[in-house]
Amino acid sequence: MADLRSDTVTRPTKGMRAAMARAAVGDDVFGDDPTVNALEAHVADLFGHEAALFAPSGTMANQIALQLVVPPGGELLAGADAHVVTYELGAAAMLGGISTRTWGSDGAALDAERIAGMIRPRGFPSVPTAAIAVEQTHNLGGGGVIPLSTLQDLRAVADTSGVTLHCDGARIWHAHIADGVSLAEYGALFDTLSVCLSKGLGAPVGSLVVGSRERIARARVIRKRMGGGMRQAGILAAAGRYALDHHLRRLTEDHERARIIAEALAPFGVVDPEKVRTNLVPLDLSKSDLDAPTLAARAAERGVLIAAMLPRVARLVTHLDLDDAAMDQAIDVLSELLT
Ligand SMILES: *Cc1c(COP(=O)(O)O)cnc(C)c1O
Repeated sequence: MADLRSDTVTRPTKGMRAAMARAAVGDDVFGDDPTVNALEAHVADLFGHEAALFAPSGTMANQIALQLVVPPGGELLAGADAHVVTYELGAAAMLGGISTRTWGSDGAALDAERIAGMIRPRGFPSVPTAAIAVEQTHNLGGGGVIPLSTLQDLRAVADTSGVTLHCDGARIWHAHIADGVSLAEYGALFDTLSVCLSKGLGAPVGSLVVGSRERIARARVIRKRMGGGMRQAGILAAAGRYALDHHLRRLTEDHERARIIAEALAPFGVVDPEKVRTNLVPLDLSKSDLDAPTLAARAAERGVLIAAMLPRVARLVTHLDLDDAAMDQAIDVLSELLT
């Protein structure tokens, strides 16, 4: 099976498993796991922030960060198609007492001025707008990369209005590789970030919240409250560190394969290769005879797994466990089905 449903389906490599086996560990709830501590310090450093906290999932990392920057009863602004809005099962409202107001689905094509216009004036009886969340790269936006200049504009909006800026950076690695913007440059633009080691980087488990020392100290308490305090988590942190050290540069290969797939499928009118910047290839089936679940089912019969994201939107994702042969198989099978 060529599995292109997500970049979360990768399995730890031999080298990664060896690093996990070698890892020094301790009880991380006591702060005693040297491998976790080293990973947290390393990731904080990469983004030029004071501290970071290891968390079991990207969803938990996002939700910890949102609870850091939005008080209960406060408001978060985010895109209607953001992961924190669409795929976190109402966690911000349920766990953080956070109300969310969205701007229209525009993927990575943000308009900083429009977002600025949504910030409510302070004072009774408005819901206080506390934070803005953006996603880099943008998942439902087809892996699109928000331009650095837009993020700089948003930073200025946050500074002027006194709201905080959070980045859901589950795939910020891909943005860094695609646009050549350093992780530290991204880090400087945001008050908090969540970053994921188990997407394109290929670790089995793990995300981090990145921020100031004061915020991360509070994050540690929130993580424990949410049931995310882990014990000898160094085994997982070792996999994450290995992924950062060995699988970051190679993301160019995934981007290249995604682009080749997009170019091969473009003649069927389902994708614009110019818009495929990273490792996600969204297929727009609005003009096709097949809807997404049908296309996915027929492709699966031929050994190619793809994701049906919406009734008329399917998605292919390239990753560490796919080689050129798998790419060619996906292209052949989908070309046949879309003809
Ligand atoms: C995958 C993803 C997450 C986190 O997902 P988990 O499955 O909880 O690790 C967060 N944000 C974005 C944009 C994602 O794609």
